[in-house]
Amino acid sequence: RNQGIGSWPARRARMTPDAVALSYKDHHYTYRDLRERVNRLASALGVRRGERVAFLGANQPAMVETLFAAGLLGAVFVPLNTRLAGPELRFILEDADPVLLVLGEERDGEGLPGRHLRAADYEALIVSGSPEPIDEPVSQDDVCLIMYTSGTTGRPKGAMLTHANLTWNTVNLLVDVPLAHDEVALIGAPLFHIAALGQALLPTVLKGGRAILEPSFDVERAFDLIETERVTLIAGVPTMFQFLATSPRWAGADLSSLRHLLCGGAPVPQPLIQAYLERGLAFMQGYGMTETAPGALFLGADRSRDKAGSAGVPCFFSDVRLVAPDGSPAAPGEPGELYVQGPNVMPGYWRRPEESAEVLSDDGWFRSGDIGVADEDGYVRISDRVKDMIISGGENIYPAEVESALYEHAAVAECAVIGVPDEKWGEVGKALVVLRPGVTASPDDLLKHLDGRLARYKVPKYLEFVPELPKNAAGKLLKAPLRKLYGG
Ligand code: ATP
Ligand code: MG
Repeated sequence: RNQGIGSWPARRARMTPDAVALSYKDHHYTYRDLRERVNRLASALGVRRGERVAFLGANQPAMVETLFAAGLLGAVFVPLNTRLAGPELRFILEDADPVLLVLGEERDGEGLPGRHLRAADYEALIVSGSPEPIDEPVSQDDVCLIMYTSGTTGRPKGAMLTHANLTWNTVNLLVDVPLAHDEVALIGAPLFHIAALGQALLPTVLKGGRAILEPSFDVERAFDLIETERVTLIAGVPTMFQFLATSPRWAGADLSSLRHLLCGGAPVPQPLIQAYLERGLAFMQGYGMTETAPGALFLGADRSRDKAGSAGVPCFFSDVRLVAPDGSPAAPGEPGELYVQGPNVMPGYWRRPEESAEVLSDDGWFRSGDIGVADEDGYVRISDRVKDMIISGGENIYPAEVESALYEHAAVAECAVIGVPDEKWGEVGKALVVLRPGVTASPDDLLKHLDGRLARYKVPKYLEFVPELPKNAAGKLLKAPLRKLYGG
């Protein structure tokens, strides 16, 4: 008996065989089609239980079908980040060691190692397979997916996610977001990151809705689809929602079909939430990570105004605690490292026993590496990553606090604060600031602005103007290269 997510297309096809499951360009597959295609693919793929099958490509039906086919076989799906360069892809392929690499229609394999299945041969393989159901027992505790983290703080790590992890994340989401059978999800965020897979694709399939797969997020096309296909659900990172809200089409577009907007993965700027509220759009936020499949905290639309800046409370079946530097529970208002426990927490990193042991305790708590502060009602604001915290003369400095004080100065377009070595204090803060175009200000002006706003020890010892700040493909600020460039 297959208890895993590989069985979802077939389970859904029993109930709503004629409902459209996937749309991609001019192709539309019903749940009956999806069930048959996934069965055929699984029988012809030549992959066995426990083996890895990687996918390199943008969002497209082959990616979703390979995920479900692997799930039917008890095999492990490994989606690869299409924005990675050759050596980075090779590093991950060596690490994951797949028996097969399935290529999206826009990729040619580019000299990557191992057995490839090219898009040109994909349909023929499906036709050659058997439509009969695969009889392979798969338990909820089998690993379904190895998904690599974004690599914001170092080399990506392969988080192993089980069928249970993904199932419970879906349940956590559905507890608070009442998806319906007629959901139309616009999936423009890449499915090789957990947000699109966990917060949009899987919940939509579970409910029997329709997932519109887009190879990339294009604002014009997004507005076209929202209006003509009557999109009801969008999940994405803040930048995506920002693109929509700053488009010339924003004011005049017919957005009446939108029911669920889920935003997370990075801090959400307050003006963005406001812009959506002003258009009558409920804006839900969340905090999560690859290792928790991803949801850990959830903020419903009804609280987005009075709990602005917070990422919410723990998801229904998950628990979160904040641990102060001395190991005691952090009191409300006090920063602490955020730990997560629950059925959505991964069993570990693939082939990384030491790193897994560092983040997972015996009693199942996962150390996120993020610092949070809870208010009196238990709503948690994510403030920083532990790795970014600066310890100066025994005092902890949270860069995010210094950065937000800097942002209050009108000349600052972007900023980041890092720690640099100091003989006297061990470490001191250094601010790197991108000025707004056409504005003049001196480093001293900005440091004076901080005086009185922040305790003396928090005011950076150095402040330098830089042309730009490095970000990764997910739009996250990368502090490691900043430290390398300016940390000396
Ligand atoms: P790596 O672990 O490889 O350094 P990463 O942590 O950026 O990369 P992801 O798992 O994609 O990889 O991202 C999870 C991280 O994103 C969280 O640990 C947190 O730092 C950040 N994050 C997620 N949601 C939010 C949010 N709502 N507010 C602030 N930060 C968030
Ligand atoms: Mg991480």
